[in-house]
Amino acid sequence: MAIREEYLDPQLEMMPPGEREEYFDQKVRWVAQYAFDNTPANRNRFEQAGIDPSQIRGVKDLEKIPPITRDEIVELQSKNPPFGGLCSIEATKAYWIFYSPGPAYVPVGSPEEVDTAAKAAYAAGVRRGDIAMVTLPTLFIAGPAFEAAFHRIGGTVVPTGPGNTELQVQIMHDLCISTFWGTPSFLASIIDRAEKMGYDFCKDFALRNALVSTEKLSPSLRKRFEQDYGINVTDILGSGFVGLLGYECREKSGFHVAEEIWMEVVDPTTGKQLGPEKVGELALTYFSKTFPLIRYRTGDLSSYTNKPCPCGRTSPRLSGILGRVGESAKVRGLFLVPRQLEEAMSDFPQVSRFQVILSRENQKDMVTLQAELKEGGSGVLAKAIEDKVQNLCRVRLDKIEFLSPSSIPEEHKVIVDNRVWQ
Ligand SMILES: [Zn+2]
Repeated sequence: MAIREEYLDPQLEMMPPGEREEYFDQKVRWVAQYAFDNTPANRNRFEQAGIDPSQIRGVKDLEKIPPITRDEIVELQSKNPPFGGLCSIEATKAYWIFYSPGPAYVPVGSPEEVDTAAKAAYAAGVRRGDIAMVTLPTLFIAGPAFEAAFHRIGGTVVPTGPGNTELQVQIMHDLCISTFWGTPSFLASIIDRAEKMGYDFCKDFALRNALVSTEKLSPSLRKRFEQDYGINVTDILGSGFVGLLGYECREKSGFHVAEEIWMEVVDPTTGKQLGPEKVGELALTYFSKTFPLIRYRTGDLSSYTNKPCPCGRTSPRLSGILGRVGESAKVRGLFLVPRQLEEAMSDFPQVSRFQVILSRENQKDMVTLQAELKEGGSGVLAKAIEDKVQNLCRVRLDKIEFLSPSSIPEEHKVIVDNRVWQ
């Protein structure tokens, strides 16, 4: 069956919803008991919360365990180096140890532990016979994890690391590199430099696949790669402690979450799980034998959907990273995120600047969008903005005010919270 060729692990990637639920309940039970038995810092977390791992029977029960933050992991590791009691093996038994800002150290027991990356690379279309250039640094998990992934698929790896654009152009050309792994801006630099050096990128290079990560992929850059250069672009969502978190399929409509991780979107104040389509903080539980993580609070805002994806994968899809928890504001139970507002407003070129003001009127939240216009506004424009914001951000605007140019200072916050609770 031709369609099977799209999946590295069709059994796991296409699990029917009921089976998927059972799979994750079982995985969560396993990781709770395993982390308790093998990692003293996690055992302490259970004991401090007065919970026995046997009480964690499935994903819903995770709410009983208080989440852990990056700062807490960094502190545990600095008090008890190198891994802070969060790792099940000695440093000398690790296959890799990666650095993560903080600093924090992430041990990996074997290349198989980062197999998630292979799934993502396969979904992107990487196959045996591909020659991949890995331009991410080896210091962080993302570079070596994808090297292992390309090898696992049967590809060849050229680990170039970042920087030295001219040399990268040479290597990409000479070795007929078919796959690129790195940041979108670095790929753009390579293409620009190649053209300055007199190459015709489409004719002289064999690049047809780009897996990109670690910075936001702008729609215009994606379009440029795809339409002008015929490169298939796949965006990858990573996270320092787990490596790969999610990946795009050919539909390019959100990030499929890998089966090695249980992802929760939680209310940052209560830690309670939020349902699909709601914006909240991403918390990750990682089924690793070496560095099992339970409810790691990423500080990143996201949302997910359970709607079936035409590609056939049944995992939830994340909308991407929408911002950091501190930047958002909660309005009528929903999170309003600057980046989402900016995305919504990017549809309106006649708006030069905008700002959302939150206030309280009659004990209720009021959301006012002020938009500075290049030319006069209209009721039609106001309605279009209202619909777009509601669609993308889920929050209804109560009022839209059109302002004349230079009313909003150049350095301005996207969300101004003026609410006073009495
Ligand atoms: Zn899909």
